[in-house]
Amino acid sequence: TAPTSTAAFQARFATDLPELALPWQAAAVPAPRLVVLNEPLAADLGLDAEWLRTEEGVGLLTGTRLPEGTIPVAQAYAGHQFGGFTRLGDGRALLLGELTDREGRSRDVHLKGSGPTPFGRGGDGLAAIGPMLREYVVSEAMHALGIPTTRSLAVVATGRDVRRVTVLPGAVLARVASSHLRVGTFQLVQATGDVDLLRRLADHAIERHHPAAASSDHRYLALYRAVISAQAALVARWMLVGFVHGVMNTDNMTISGETIDYGPCAYLEAFDPATVFSSIDHGGRYAYANQPVVAEWNLARFGEALLPLLDDDQEKAVALATESLGAFRTEYAEAWSAGMRAKLGLSAGEDTAADQLVAKLLGLLHQSHVDYTSFWRHLSTAARGDVEPVRGLFLDLSAVDDWLERWRALDPDPDAMDRVNPLYIPRNHLVEEALIAATNDDFAPLHALLQAVRQPFHARPGLERYADPAPEDFGRYQTFCGT
Ligand code: AMP
Ligand code: MG
Ligand code: MG
Repeated sequence: TAPTSTAAFQARFATDLPELALPWQAAAVPAPRLVVLNEPLAADLGLDAEWLRTEEGVGLLTGTRLPEGTIPVAQAYAGHQFGGFTRLGDGRALLLGELTDREGRSRDVHLKGSGPTPFGRGGDGLAAIGPMLREYVVSEAMHALGIPTTRSLAVVATGRDVRRVTVLPGAVLARVASSHLRVGTFQLVQATGDVDLLRRLADHAIERHHPAAASSDHRYLALYRAVISAQAALVARWMLVGFVHGVMNTDNMTISGETIDYGPCAYLEAFDPATVFSSIDHGGRYAYANQPVVAEWNLARFGEALLPLLDDDQEKAVALATESLGAFRTEYAEAWSAGMRAKLGLSAGEDTAADQLVAKLLGLLHQSHVDYTSFWRHLSTAARGDVEPVRGLFLDLSAVDDWLERWRALDPDPDAMDRVNPLYIPRNHLVEEALIAATNDDFAPLHALLQAVRQPFHARPGLERYADPAPEDFGRYQTFCGT
């Protein structure tokens, strides 16, 4: 029998929050070609992968041929972009609706690069294939690392040219998320002054992401605290793995605690807290070491947006929000310290000694420009008795020997280390190599990279180049937004 569609989108967001949902149609796609399909994710969503590969299935993945009754919408939101408040919305994206996955969870299916909408502010509404594949690879790598993230279902080349600095092949990314609610969604509603809508939005967010808040005495304060906790945990995970998001505007911070918007993101190579990859981040606002500070700043903006729901007395509301936000620093610091202890192979109990070791280590890594990812796997080799590979990374050998001696005295567990320290991440030079090849119609490097990063902890023969730092001549890496 021919594969058939099982997709029946719900319109939960559009029904609950019509004020934030603008019904809109995807642009026609002249010559669709499915470039990459995430079959396990399709299966999770109850979608038949074989059907998705048919003309009808590709029609769903581009928004051009949708199941009866589907009402795609562009979502309205606002946001602080590099500190300045702006009204935004899906300028080149559409929410098709929600599907219930195999575990019973509601998941958004969303398209990026699906044509211009009224929120586009003059943009062409399109996306080039390189950046859509970057999101595909990096989000799938994040998922494999166990870090909460939006997922990527497919990338379809459109056959339409996209004009950037050069002319590039266009593509549409199908993205899956537990929702696309952002801090900026709340900011937009708060700015309109419609408290009833704000309450509906908060209730929608509680139901979808933080249901425990519903049984709290103060459900909206509980929502705020839950988002603070989710973001503190998330950003700690980014920091531990060396991820630089690159554009932590409030419209790119989710209420669910999932990483969203893989525009100018990249991973640290040589450890340096001041690392910035984005070409437009001149002030280093979104530098690696600034990410926890920015997350806290964004969460303060979220608290401001919730104020009308926190108390009728606004002074009291501010006091409640401020007190709640205080938890961010503690929770972040705990998640970071626990994560670092795990990376060092240490069990809980030696916390003060471990924290001192971490502080000293970061200084040494910075001083010697050590490749952040490979360091940790060389360190587990040291825990197994061979210290030479890790010693070879440092300039100041007496300092590193002293550090190693103190660390080994705490009896680190190398197998535990290898379960939390990835060997394969989407290194910048490998991502670049895969995207350039794909832009020229060669998808082999992309698939090879995906295969490596989908099992990031488990060493496999033949994948050595995916574990190695960039060659010297790769130079300083720069990334670009909105392309
Ligand atoms: P970002 O910096 O990726 O979070 O995007 C900020 C806003 O710009 C979002 O509202 C996008 O929908 C919009 N945008 C980005 N690129 C385009 C484009 N090519 N056409 C229309 N809107 C865009
Ligand atoms: Mg965005
Ligand atoms: Mg973006």
